[in-house]
Amino acid sequence: MHFMHKYTYLINGVYLLTETPRPNLKEVDLPCNIFKDHISIITSYIRWSDDGQTIGHSLHIQESEIVARAKREGFKIVVSFIEEAKSAYHIPAQKRIQMQNMKNFILNNENVSAVIFYEESRVTRLIEDFVLYVLGPIKEVRPNFKVYSTKIDGEWNENNPYVQARLSFAHEESVEKSRRAYDYHTSVVNSSTPERPGSRNPYGYSLTTKDNTIETNENKSIVILIFYLYSYGYSDRKIANLLNEAEIPPPSMDAKGWSDSTVRYILNNRWYIGDLAWFTRTSFENSKKKPEEEIFLFKNHHEPLIGANLWNTTQFFRNYKQNKDHMDSPFILRDLIYCNDCKEKLITKNSTPAKSKKKYMYYCCPSCKKKISTDKIHESIFADFSLRWGRELKYYEKQTERILNRWKKGLEQKINDLNENLEKLKYLLSTLDKNNEYYQELKEIFEMQIHSTSKELQEYHNTREQIDLLSKDEMQSELIGRFKQDIHSYSNEEKRAIFLLAIEKIGINFSKDNHIRIDYRLTPYVEIEDLMKQLDIESA
Ligand SMILES: [Zn+2]
Repeated sequence: MHFMHKYTYLINGVYLLTETPRPNLKEVDLPCNIFKDHISIITSYIRWSDDGQTIGHSLHIQESEIVARAKREGFKIVVSFIEEAKSAYHIPAQKRIQMQNMKNFILNNENVSAVIFYEESRVTRLIEDFVLYVLGPIKEVRPNFKVYSTKIDGEWNENNPYVQARLSFAHEESVEKSRRAYDYHTSVVNSSTPERPGSRNPYGYSLTTKDNTIETNENKSIVILIFYLYSYGYSDRKIANLLNEAEIPPPSMDAKGWSDSTVRYILNNRWYIGDLAWFTRTSFENSKKKPEEEIFLFKNHHEPLIGANLWNTTQFFRNYKQNKDHMDSPFILRDLIYCNDCKEKLITKNSTPAKSKKKYMYYCCPSCKKKISTDKIHESIFADFSLRWGRELKYYEKQTERILNRWKKGLEQKINDLNENLEKLKYLLSTLDKNNEYYQELKEIFEMQIHSTSKELQEYHNTREQIDLLSKDEMQSELIGRFKQDIHSYSNEEKRAIFLLAIEKIGINFSKDNHIRIDYRLTPYVEIEDLMKQLDIESA
């Protein structure tokens, strides 16, 4: 077998062996032969991803925690395996490759007597496979093989109720994380023709005088324009300014002009996709929006102005910008670009002197401190981007259609599995033995699992419905068509918006002539695509 771990570091008296360099540590020589000498070794498994799930858990922190724990358990050598969560493109071929490598390493080296996970919730989706296909075969030849987790004292044992409880919490957690904007509760209130109680008509609509029904009016194109501008990265304030400059009268007669909150109100209003939403305020005094599942919703209540694609895109940007993203900043690749060696997100640095005409702006790795000028990297990205979208639009439309269909099938499979699972859980709960010493804990675990499974089911149903709406909506080709136009012709916020929809991440290899690798998204439906990836639903 190939043993690729050629880097050795010494941390607090423990040797850490890695496949790739750790720039913030100093390399040392290993004073023994890990295959020939008689020495106790532990492997570590970290699932590392940069999709936002691991904020506050940088690779360095995870490895330090693992080394500290290994030391407590009496180990002097840790061999580190890092599973990088790949973009959807790469999942099928490289899935769990490091898990497999680790298994081979353990089976081929009798010195390995244990494995340690960083917080087993990070491997939850793999845990059943791990127990069946990895731990099982290892324990057959090495019955005393031990498993540890940084989050559990003592040994990790898959049959221990506490471990099981933690696993279901982890499950709950991951379900919580995958909640999306479309995770709304579709309570149906007993009324055949619901009306909007005591409020005036939304901007763009009016009541007909003859039969008191609602219809769109001459302002509808303004509503569409607002959504359109937002989907191109413009802020609420910029949109308000544009409307004021164009002297378009604001919705309220007595207002001085458009304000960012008026624009935001329109952009957040489900009315424009044809739904009637009630009770969207937390209380009369508190205008903070309620969580989506507490809103009563009547779907397809009236003629929509905004299609699924435009709505989906604007909602994505609204959620995205909650962490105060300035779309018009010249650092159009921030949060998308990583250092390949350190696995760190690059930070932005503007070193332009006060009166200088020439700009000195960089993306910079916080760990190894290497940097690249924005102009240089932007040009390479623009070139690659233009090359990628060279084909006929029809080609991309067909491809998107294929992917959406694949996702739908995958979701249907998940829905069937979950339904079966739910039945099984309900059955197990009903047959639980009250005299079992863990009765109370087990009962709670089952109830919790039933609850989270039902929520998950609801989410999958909603997503499937979303996908249906997206593929029927004509705006799809307009959205994809944006990628094909000359990227140079867009403003900063427009470029930023386009890249956020088209690119998952960019890796730069400072040690290899600044070589870049771009992981493109499969579709412009970022949140759905991330969910599919999380669910391991394959796209091709
Ligand atoms: Zn670096």
